[in-house]
Amino acid sequence: MPILGELLIGRTARPGQNGTFQAIDAASAQALVPVFGGASLDDLDQACALAAQAFDHYRATTPAQRAALLDAIASNLLALGDALIQRCMSETGLPRARLEGERGRTVSQLGLFAQVLREGSYLDCRIDPAQPLRQPLPKVDLRLRNIPLGPVAVFGASNFPLAFSVAGGDSASALAAGCPVIVKAHSAHPGTSELVGRAIQQAVRDCDLPEGVFSLLFDSGRSIGQGLVADPRIKAVGFTGSRSGGVALMQIAANRHEPIPVYAEMSAINPVILLPSALAERASSIADSFIASLTLGAGQFCTNPGLILAIDSPTLRQFELAASARLQAVPAQTMLTPGICQSYRAGVVAWRERGDVQLLAEGDSGSEQQARAALFVTSAQTFLAQPALREEVFGACSLIVRCKDLSELQQVIHALEGQLTIALHLSAADHQQASHLLPLLERKAGRILVNGFGTGVEVGHAMVHGGPFPATSDSRTTSVGSLAIQRFLRPVSYQDLPDALLPPELQQANPLNLPRRLNGELRS
Ligand code: NAP
Repeated sequence: MPILGELLIGRTARPGQNGTFQAIDAASAQALVPVFGGASLDDLDQACALAAQAFDHYRATTPAQRAALLDAIASNLLALGDALIQRCMSETGLPRARLEGERGRTVSQLGLFAQVLREGSYLDCRIDPAQPLRQPLPKVDLRLRNIPLGPVAVFGASNFPLAFSVAGGDSASALAAGCPVIVKAHSAHPGTSELVGRAIQQAVRDCDLPEGVFSLLFDSGRSIGQGLVADPRIKAVGFTGSRSGGVALMQIAANRHEPIPVYAEMSAINPVILLPSALAERASSIADSFIASLTLGAGQFCTNPGLILAIDSPTLRQFELAASARLQAVPAQTMLTPGICQSYRAGVVAWRERGDVQLLAEGDSGSEQQARAALFVTSAQTFLAQPALREEVFGACSLIVRCKDLSELQQVIHALEGQLTIALHLSAADHQQASHLLPLLERKAGRILVNGFGTGVEVGHAMVHGGPFPATSDSRTTSVGSLAIQRFLRPVSYQDLPDALLPPELQQANPLNLPRRLNGELRS
């Protein structure tokens, strides 16, 4: 399938006329063909109009029809073959094995939501039958189901060009919920976005669904992305990216005449807490796995371990020596974009120039397009006094904070902002300290893990990839896993409707054979 640099609006494909831009080869910094044209306000208006028109038809499709759409998207994605992987490698600098794995994850995410649809409990159907003879007052018949919110705007991430982009978790969960999707393509991988967008466009056509179920817009600046969030026909936003980008879109959404939810996954430093017995038993092996996690994919994971917390001791110093030795041997790596590389380097330089943090080690230096990993250390007192040290440096950069005792460790955890993950490294002898910390950790993170690192996010039913601000804009949900569908649904209650007027999900005969709660009791 050729990449033509075209906007995909409903069933049409056409070059945008509002400014141009090109993808940049991440390794060589050379511009890649073709030239992409940015969408105009008219294009935006047309995509939103089509999405709004499609909504009622699309939401009335059965869960099985939407599951078939997700399956068709998955097969069309696979049918793109190596052309997709090659283009994505050029645009992102990510290696083949990583992207092939990410394609597999994207396909399995689509499959997961198809499974959620076929199973049906996401609708949360509840029936409280009438009791006309109840005393002192009769009880009405109440029935509840979830319905989709409406057209959703999706902003994909630079660091997951497949799994968190055009056909990624936000699009898959919104389409599963019954919401048309308009994607604002990430300017760092427009060719990848167009290929995947065409695979979705084809699937919508093959499944005989209204064309407005999916559109893909390129933006040569920021006005189309912002206009999309401001458009009254858009009813929710999914975003993965920077804190500044997420907050800017949250503000636009909040200032609308009708404010809408923005599900933004933004910034985290994912603390790792090393408890004393674990350090005494295995400082060196924890150091090895820490550096492997820190430098995986040039550190460009939202769950990258950017902070190590431990009580100071000779074994912590051993850990620091072992981690430093391991880090020095790590080759420099190409980052996703020259801009991300520059901001990583600027972040490391800013820390190097501070008098209150000490550089422990740096990785091997590389070419101009590459970034070297870095490890710093500081005291808990400095960390507590300097909020700037709690901010994410996106890339393979981490800070060790030496605490003098458990109480100081707790103070440091208290001072942290919301996180996607917090990891605890412990042995049996550390359980008592861990149990003191757990209630505090729950308040800070969406996922707590033991003797591991947050990189590697399992896509499943019990996963939370979320957390309090600024990890996300809404800590009540997740952007990974089947629970993500709930972001794009809202409950509606039907009181005393005749059976013939009820949606099939709630009719007495249960024609869709759904699991439902009858008087609070789950029946399947
Ligand atoms: P980004 O710059 O926030 O971009 C994400 C998407 O939002 C892009 O489509 C971007 O448009 C758009 N956007 C950003 N700011 C906007 C604004 N003010 N108005 C309208 N649209 C806006 O994120 P990124 O490019 O993926 O990565 C850049 C930085 O984000 C990294 O250096 C890192 O700090 C952080 N990051 C964090 C995570 C995480 O999960 N914690 C993941 C990825 C990145 P354009 O395509 O036009 O830029």
